[in-house]
Amino acid sequence: MRVLVTGGAGYIGSVVTEELVRDGHEVVVYDSLYKGHRESVVPEAKFVQADLLETEVLRRTLSEHEIEAVIHMAADSLVGESVEAPAKYYRNNVIAGLSLLDAMREAEVKRLVFSSTAATYGEPAKQPIEETDPTAPTNTYGETKLAFERALHWYEGAYGLHYASLRYFNAAGATELCGEAHDPETHLIPIVLQAAAGTRPHVTIYGDDYPTRDGTCVRDYIHVIDLARAHILALDILDERSAIYNLGCGGEGYSVLEVIETARKVTGREIPVQTGARRPGDPAVLIASSDRIKGELGWQPALQDLTVIIESAWKWMQERQK
Ligand code: UDP
Repeated sequence: MRVLVTGGAGYIGSVVTEELVRDGHEVVVYDSLYKGHRESVVPEAKFVQADLLETEVLRRTLSEHEIEAVIHMAADSLVGESVEAPAKYYRNNVIAGLSLLDAMREAEVKRLVFSSTAATYGEPAKQPIEETDPTAPTNTYGETKLAFERALHWYEGAYGLHYASLRYFNAAGATELCGEAHDPETHLIPIVLQAAAGTRPHVTIYGDDYPTRDGTCVRDYIHVIDLARAHILALDILDERSAIYNLGCGGEGYSVLEVIETARKVTGREIPVQTGARRPGDPAVLIASSDRIKGELGWQPALQDLTVIIESAWKWMQERQK
């Protein structure tokens, strides 16, 4: 299939692009590079550097490359920043997304895979979280992702668009080529590995008084390759129907302290820690039920062991620093 990947130079987008190319799809990456990395895009993919709000460029890209499906990953995704700067999040996650949908309508592209988030659920009603559970975001990031999901629902009815909305839990790990490098870094695993590498003095644990097994927050970490594979499986339903799927590994998840301990074993390094205040908006536990995507698409995580996830991230980080 000829696929446009918006945000394809970002952490997850670059791995999705790598996997699409591996499977023989023709890929055009559309990325403004305001956060993405050009060198993370595999050479087999075509590359357009532009913003989604550059509507003429977007329209031309869809028609010139005869795009058949879009994987829409371009977004702002920092919970804390989203609360401080909601205008930026509505602009980049909702307005830019609607601009993409307009361009797709004009070019008659009717297949979309959307990167959504567990943050659409807010403080979950129960664990593990199922797609039928209530959505009640507690931050602007989750709210804007949910707003776009709702738009997809109405666009489907009116314009015959089919979509798969993938609600990611905690993406982590790396391929040989692509890994996680945000600036500033806010995510736990890269921060822990920076502390192990000595490029950061310590890890601050955001709260150790949660009602969990060791007092620290529990999350469902999913290897970025397993996440990427789900996008490719999701492309297959889009001739027929739309769906919303959670994407996590389920089970017991891992606490912040368990992540740090695993990283100590993987790296063999000291990882100094300090305990700080809770981070506003952090639910104590987020664990996915991914039964729906397993049952309907046959998706299975192949790399769910946290040691494997952290080893891949550590290897990538060390290669990058050479
Ligand atoms: N966390 C932490 N210290 C950090 C970064 C994150 O204790 O420096 C915790 C955070 O509170 C959350 C978990 O690690 O419980 C995962 O956070 P991350 O930002 O990686 O992902 P999120 O769950 O926010 O999507």
